This record gives sequence, C-alpha cells and structure tokens, in this order.
Amino acid sequence: MMLNYIKYVVTMFLISIVIAVSGYSAENYKNFKTAVYCRAYETKEMGDLNWLESRWETISQQVKVDKIYLETHRDMLIVDEETITKAKKFFNDRGIETAGGITLTVNERNRFQTFCYSNPEHRQKVKQIVEYTAGLFDVVILDDFFFTNCKCQMCIQAKGDKSWTRYRLDLLEEASRELILKPAKAVNPNVKVIIKYPNWYEHFQGLGFNLRAQPALFDGLYTGTETRDPVRSQQHLQQYQSYLIFRYFENLKPGGNTGGWVDTGGVPYMDRYAEQLWLTLFAKAPEITLFDFRQMLRPFSADDHRAQWQGKRTSFDFDEMIKPVQSGNGETVTPTTFARAAGYTLEKIDAFLSELGQPVGVKSYKPYHSTGEDFLHNYLGMAGIPMDIVPEFPAEEKLIFLTESAKFDTALVDKIKGQLIDGKNVVITSGLLRALQNKGIRDIVELEFTNRKALIKDFVVGRNPVIQATEEVLIPQIQYLTNDSWEEISCLDNGIGWPILHSAEYANGVLYVLTIPDNFADLYNYPAEALSRIKQTILADFYLRVESPAQVALFVYDNNTFIVESFLPEDVNVGIILKDTVDELRDVLTGDVLSGEKITGWGGRATGEKRYETTVKPHSFRVFRCK
Ligand SMILES: [Zn+2]
Repeated sequence: MMLNYIKYVVTMFLISIVIAVSGYSAENYKNFKTAVYCRAYETKEMGDLNWLESRWETISQQVKVDKIYLETHRDMLIVDEETITKAKKFFNDRGIETAGGITLTVNERNRFQTFCYSNPEHRQKVKQIVEYTAGLFDVVILDDFFFTNCKCQMCIQAKGDKSWTRYRLDLLEEASRELILKPAKAVNPNVKVIIKYPNWYEHFQGLGFNLRAQPALFDGLYTGTETRDPVRSQQHLQQYQSYLIFRYFENLKPGGNTGGWVDTGGVPYMDRYAEQLWLTLFAKAPEITLFDFRQMLRPFSADDHRAQWQGKRTSFDFDEMIKPVQSGNGETVTPTTFARAAGYTLEKIDAFLSELGQPVGVKSYKPYHSTGEDFLHNYLGMAGIPMDIVPEFPAEEKLIFLTESAKFDTALVDKIKGQLIDGKNVVITSGLLRALQNKGIRDIVELEFTNRKALIKDFVVGRNPVIQATEEVLIPQIQYLTNDSWEEISCLDNGIGWPILHSAEYANGVLYVLTIPDNFADLYNYPAEALSRIKQTILADFYLRVESPAQVALFVYDNNTFIVESFLPEDVNVGIILKDTVDELRDVLTGDVLSGEKITGWGGRATGEKRYETTVKPHSFRVFRCK
C-alpha cells in the first residue's frame, strides 16, 4: 500500500516535471499534431546543446510542437549516432516525440540530383542509410526525393526498350521493397516507414513515384501541401491544391495519409503561408509538418509580409499575429519569426476544426499514372466546385467529372455509357473530348473538337442577356449537330457562337461537355453567371452551391458544415444557395444567423432553393453550419 502510494507520488512528480519543462505540450492543439522537420544540416548541429537550446526556445515559445523529425541523411551528409541520440534525448526530455527522416538526394542543389537505382554502389548506400535510420527510430519518413531523374549510361542500358516512365516505375517499386522496406524491417521489426510525396502529382510516374504500388507497400503516406506563389513560382500551383492533394492521397490509401507538410518558401505575403496551413487542415490532415527547423527561425517583417489588405480583420490578421504571447513558463514573448505565423494560424484553426465532418466533393476519376490537362482540378476548385480525385472509377456516383487524364483508362467510353444507361450523369472536359473523339465517344454523341479557336468575351446563359467575361478568353471551337445536342452556356464572337457547357442525352442520363480555355487560368475570367450555371449542373446533388466570381472556393463536409474561402485581394459578395429544407444558416465563428430569400424561377414558380447574400473579406474564409 505504502509502496503504491510512493510510486504514485513519484509518478505524479515526474509527470509534473515533464509538463513544466515541456511548456506547451500539456495544452497543444486538440485536432491535429504539429511536427517540425529538421534537415541533416541542422540535426548535425544538435550535438551542441547550447546551439539547440536557444533555437528551440525561440520556436517553442511561438508554436506548440508535438513531434520532431530528425533527418539522418541528405546530400551524402550522414549525422552521427551520438548527435542523433543527444538530440532525441533533448526533445524526449521535453515531452516531444521524435521520428527519423531521410532525404535520398546525392546533391539537392544540383537540380535535385537523386540516387541512381541502376547503380549497385548507390543501391548499397541507400540500403545502409535506411538500416542506420531504422535502427534509431520507430517511425521513419522519406522526404520528397525517393524518385529518380538519373539518365546515366547504366540507366540507359538497363531501361532497354521500356519508356522512361515504365522503367522508373518498375525500378522504384523494386527499390521500395528491397532497399527501403525489407532492410528497415530487418533492423527494426516495429519500424513504420512513411513515404512523403511532393506536390507535382501529375508527373510522378515519369520519375518513378508509383502511386499504384507504393501506398500498399508503405506503412503510411505523407503529403506535400505547399503551393507557394501561384503566379511567380515555376510550378504555378493553384492555392486549392493544398487541400485537394491531401484528399487525393487519402483516397490512395484510406486512413493512411498521415499528414500534410508546408514550407515557408514562395510566400509573397504572410496570408499565403497561413492559407497553405489551413487548407491542409480543412482537408483533415491528422498531422501538420512545418518545414523546417531553420525556416521556423526565419524572421518576418511588416515590410515584406504584411499584405495591402491587412487592417480589415481578415482571417490571417498580421497585426494580431505579431502581438506578444505568453510562453509556457509564463514569459511574455514578442513574435519574431515564421514559427509565430504558424502558431497563430494553427491556434485559430484548431478552435473550430472539430465542428467539421468529413470532406466531400465531386468525384473525379484519375487513373493511376495518368496525365492530361495537368492540375486542372485545382482551377475548378478555385472556381468554387469542390473536387475529390479518386484512382478508381466511382461507378456509384450520380455524377462523375472527368478531365483529359481519364483517357488513360482504355475502357473509359464503355464505363461512361454504363453510367448514362443507369440514369447517371457524366461531365467531361473539352480536353477529354479531344482525346476520345476517335476512340468511341461518337457512339454517345457526334461532337467534333475542331482545330479552330475563338477569342471570346460575351457569354449567354439560358434566356438571360449577354454578359461579359472580365478578359478575352481563347477557347477551342466544338462543333455539334443541330437538335442532336444542346448548348447550355454559349459564348459569342463577331456574330457566331460556340458551346461553353454542352449537353447530350443518351439512354437515361446526360453527358455534359465543359469547354476548358486554352489557358486554364482563363476559367477565372468566366463571368460569375456562367460559373453559377456550371456549378448548378455539376453540384446538382449537393445541398448547396455558392454564386460568386472565381477564386472563391467551397469546402463541403458531410455534417452540414461548409467553408467559403476567397483568394481575391478585395471583399467579394457571395450568394449561398441552399435547398429550402434548410431552416437555419449560421456563421460558426461569429454565431450570426443569416437570412435567406426564396428563389423564384421562370413564371414566378418556386425553385425549392433559398439564397443567402453575404460577403467574404480578402484572403479570408467563413465557416457555416446549416440546420
Ligand atoms: Zn543511373
């Protein structure tokens, strides 16, 4: 009895020490874990505890951290075991979980030079790095670089008659088993090996990332959700991708996408950094990794990072963010580095994230290893259509959305026919029409994707007057047979018109063709009225849609909650259209109840919908719940 009591007292005493030294850990974010990744360059310094202590203090006073990834290798730099052990102890003593990280680069600065998996010496090296790391940690994550861009003589010879894509897919599937997973589990049977994928998912197959084989082989996936500057960066990734890519990878391994990962690069204003973090969490990532230890110490300044729309109490409020905070030990700390921008954002999102159910979207089938109209889904997401990319044909859906990448399924036309015969609808893009027009689609409807273009500005939606796009838009001309299929939305130039949204009945369903402009970003110039008509068609089975210009995204959850987020630099008016079975629409963050008006259609007849007018601030989101 006495012994038990002593044990109890000692245990409680130890727990209180852990809480005291770990600062925030007893009260970290409730809805997700937060991790910081340390590259080998920084991990190597951590043998010097003074170096580590001061930097860790700066980070941990500004953001609550649950977990640290300690990288053992990058660019042929291997951190010695003594240093890793010291660093692990430093963090574990503070109640912080530790995991291992490996970056499989020979020289990251030399255009991301990877290992050569055709070369026996390189293969041996990779195996050694993996064994070493698995001996030190029970969780090991591979950063972005487990792909290959090697075209050395050995690779050229080994490739033979295969395409580079086929050769590299097979090579890295084999390397996943033989150089990563088997050696890791042989050293440490408990080890979980996580493969982290970067943001260029449309092109993975060309460099050997194998989304068909690897998700089943690895213990978990991890998602690069950084999108950076959508205009000035070479990748030009749309902001919506920070959400959509997480959902896509979750669909590759349901329950197995273990986190999202954001760095501080390509941030023209601080809201852009925050957006990437919250979009990752809107996708329901269970963990967020802040890349990296060094970047968390990057100073910010109002001159460089305070956007011109600040001062309006936007979702990311720069002036709030820079206010002094109480650290875990009661000290008042003035924010100085990106760690606080992360901490401020994560606190804000954590406060309401538990309100949201599971994300839902329009299912879009993207076969494994496919390309075509690359990254187009993200532009549609930015135009207010909630997207959900899936790797298998979702035959159970009442409406499926298909872009050009679906052409990689050679049985696609038969599958589309099957849906239409079942009374379901299919929307295809003009790019997919082009790909399929001599591959069976004419059996459904005789359309011609011509080589002619039109430079258009005027749109006609139904019986409404002509409306104008914000800029001229270059589109392909699609030709059809009069009275066989129908223009739902037309565009005009110099007295002639072409379809923007076209419909064709077949059996019990409808095939729609959505004309995609030559420059996908011109979708943002489509007038709001045209976008609304497109949404009305694609979101017919959703209980809501949002009428607005493009660059206002909608995130829908399965528990009657949704988020409307604007990426525009000024206030925007939005109309939220809900089925009139909804009794109440409430702003979750302010508690305000919005009032809606019944929508009447042609001849004054009720449409069964209500419209709620409201506004969204620049680069801001609003969270709603319906009853
Ligand atoms: Zn090679």
